[in-house]
Amino acid sequence: MSDTGKSVYRLPEGSKEMKDLLGGKGAGLAEMSRLGLPVPPGFIITTEACRTYMRTGELPEGLMQEVAVHLRWLEGETGKCLGDPENPLLVSVRSGAAVSMPGMMDTVLNLGLNDATVEGLAERTGDARFAYDCYRRFVQMFGEIVLKVRAHSFEEALDDLKRERGVEQDQELSAEDLKGLVRAFKGIVEEATGRPFPQDPEEQLERAVKAVFDSWDNERARAYRREFGIPDDLGTAVTVQAMVFGNMGETSATGVAFTRNPATGEQGIFGEFLLNAQGEDVVAGIRTPKPLAEMEEVLPRAYGELLRVMQALEREYKDMQDIEFTVERDRLYMLQTRSGKRTARAALKIAREMAEEGLISRDEALLRIDPKGLNQLLHPHIDPEARLEVLARGLPASPGAAVGRIVLDADEAERLGEVGEAVILIRRETNPDDVHGMIRARGVLTALGGMTSHAAVVARGLGKPAVTGCKELEVDPGAGEIRLAGRTFRAGETITIEGSTGRVIAGEVPLVEAETNEDFEQILRWADEVRTLGVRANADTPEDARKAREFGAEGIGLCRTEHMFMDEGRLEVMREVILAEDEAALDAALARLEPLQRGDFEEIFAAMDGLPVTVRLLDPPLHEFLPGSEKLKQSIAGLEAGGGSPEDISGLRRQLKAVESLEERNPMLGLRGVRLGIVRPEIYRMQVRAIAAAVKSLGERGRNPVVEIMIPLVGFPAELKETRRQAGAVLEEVLGEENSVKIGTMIELPRACAVADEIAQEADFFSFGTNDLTQTVCGLSRDDAEGKFLPEYLHRGIFENNPFETLDRRGVGRLVAMACELGRGAKPSLKLGICGEHGGDPESIRFFQGVGLDYVSCSPYRVPVARLAAARAAL
Ligand code: ADP
Ligand code: MG
Ligand code: MG
Repeated sequence: MSDTGKSVYRLPEGSKEMKDLLGGKGAGLAEMSRLGLPVPPGFIITTEACRTYMRTGELPEGLMQEVAVHLRWLEGETGKCLGDPENPLLVSVRSGAAVSMPGMMDTVLNLGLNDATVEGLAERTGDARFAYDCYRRFVQMFGEIVLKVRAHSFEEALDDLKRERGVEQDQELSAEDLKGLVRAFKGIVEEATGRPFPQDPEEQLERAVKAVFDSWDNERARAYRREFGIPDDLGTAVTVQAMVFGNMGETSATGVAFTRNPATGEQGIFGEFLLNAQGEDVVAGIRTPKPLAEMEEVLPRAYGELLRVMQALEREYKDMQDIEFTVERDRLYMLQTRSGKRTARAALKIAREMAEEGLISRDEALLRIDPKGLNQLLHPHIDPEARLEVLARGLPASPGAAVGRIVLDADEAERLGEVGEAVILIRRETNPDDVHGMIRARGVLTALGGMTSHAAVVARGLGKPAVTGCKELEVDPGAGEIRLAGRTFRAGETITIEGSTGRVIAGEVPLVEAETNEDFEQILRWADEVRTLGVRANADTPEDARKAREFGAEGIGLCRTEHMFMDEGRLEVMREVILAEDEAALDAALARLEPLQRGDFEEIFAAMDGLPVTVRLLDPPLHEFLPGSEKLKQSIAGLEAGGGSPEDISGLRRQLKAVESLEERNPMLGLRGVRLGIVRPEIYRMQVRAIAAAVKSLGERGRNPVVEIMIPLVGFPAELKETRRQAGAVLEEVLGEENSVKIGTMIELPRACAVADEIAQEADFFSFGTNDLTQTVCGLSRDDAEGKFLPEYLHRGIFENNPFETLDRRGVGRLVAMACELGRGAKPSLKLGICGEHGGDPESIRFFQGVGLDYVSCSPYRVPVARLAAARAAL
């Protein structure tokens, strides 16, 4: 029992704020009756009573007495009495939790009918057909929901009867037919339960209340809660409400509606209705409902009233509403209202228009839009109106949707892709040997691996849709087929994947191209006015830089330079640099690389003209640029067997020696980042010279490059001091003493956080590399965790989130906060940013706002998401 000792509320006693206690449905009904809108009277049993019931297995003491008191009130309101054969009151007993779980729990309609009251109902309404229609519905619903009789038995009896009478529709059955059907239904119940159908309305009510409470814990409700992360202990409220009847002939109807179009957001009502029908008939698909607009012709009075009510609801809720209504003999009754689910596109339009209509503030408009939903718009997605056969759901690893033929092999994907075939590459998991196929595929689907598995990371980098970790997927390359949802698909058959939602769909599905529209632009302009956090992009190429700028990036927070050594024609030169045996050879190789790097930088700086570009100097260990030692050994053996020239053989031998000397037990913690800058300073010097020359040449052409050089993997102040001195000297040489190029460091080691005050002395800026920082703080290797134990950790609730997607605030976040405080304490002008994947994650962005970073940096496609998330974090 609640503190007040009250377990039951009359509808007008509640309000929309009381969702937790009265459930969403109850609170909505309460609000509508408070507003004087036409709602059948009723009362609500609280979620707290349900929780007691779940704990003890018994209804709370005194509950049914409290219900009885309210029943008397309800009888007064309606002028009818429960169980009175002269003038029976019928009620619905409806479920409804604080969090909307549409269709997951149970509701019983027409309760109060028995062999005597059905006659009374027939007499009072003058419509025996109607009365028996209600009774047969009630026996079936009560039978299924309360007495657990199989639905199938009732459906069969109804089908048999229709076949006997030679009719298609339920409404074509006569009063006598329905009377017979009730008899048959009661027989089914008696046979299944061993007892006659309960005739006492009070008993019916008590048992229905318990059954609705029980429905909180039914299988599908539990599965739904797991899927959407809803706690299992909230419980449901129960609304007991006087029935109104949409099945009283051709002036009666029932329907559902949205106050705006939930797919497009456009104004104007949107919904469906059915004449002479009850309850779930509209959604059950027994008859085809009609578009709501047609109701204007057949039921003009009720239709006008409905428009008025919908407007009032929008004004009150200041949001698009999803409603259920019934018309009884031309009179409208409201049976439900809630904020309607909508597509991302509709969310933008509705928020924008409501702000412009003055219904909500701009800030409120920003708070209405889920930043992650924007992803949907920035990539091709499945037409919301399309009919789908969803086969399975995996992880939404890389946004966008793709249609293509099934291909199980990367070489094949490459071959077909090159000739313009649309293919989806499907693998158990991917590894670097699959990348060439991924490049040519329209999308990627894997059975294993998480959100940061190889497939996911590479696909995001390529901007391709990907679904990973699709557990139901079995890939059988040997047989040339896959199995999904009990079906087999052969290579070459068409399939659709949607990386934004993780859905895998049979066949070809119509896609909608990526579209940013005026609503999108306007909302983001409002976001920019509000946010205090800067938003930059991680971009390594001029195309990425341009894309990022288009999406509103205010600079580049991370420009990785390693790919500049990987491109065709460059890798060989880089190998020469690494393998050079004397200074002359080294200088010659570096001299060939430098102009190439300089060209890259010029293009990127030009694309970001006037905006800062943070260039990270070489980070990965050198052996990533070399062939593997196994491969070299094979080549040597091949040459020896095939009589290769002695020079070639000794050349390869030298390579092998160098490769073996660079091999590391744990490359992640080996010779890389700043350590390379210190041990092999020539490479960093060359990179800085290329940067400086690019700055100089653009400056001379009247452009305004703003460049920041970032040194990776610093843990000791002396490391940064040394590299900074060297880089500074090169900059001075090319640009003069008074140059504007800043030098800072990536913070990605716990030690760097601990001595951030000392490091700050040497740095103009910090950028938190939260991918590596998460690995080093948690002692988690991302590649190993993702595929192996992370899923289990998440499943068992040991981790609440994947720490590589959403920043681990308590652990990693604490170190970030400490480093900010120490760094700024030592140098108030220190600029602070973050460039890990977390820079595009709304929850993490909220945290970064809190610790006072200057900017976040994320992949170009997530820039709009970050702009909106940053605005929301500032509100
Ligand atoms: P759900 O949560 O599954 O939508 P509801 O409690 O909303 O379940 O009930 C389903 C449908 O039953 C409603 O949409 C409405 O059409 C009908 N219904 C519920 N209560 C009443 C009532 N008092 N009078 C008439 N119809 C009702
Ligand atoms: Mg409903
Ligand atoms: Mg790193």
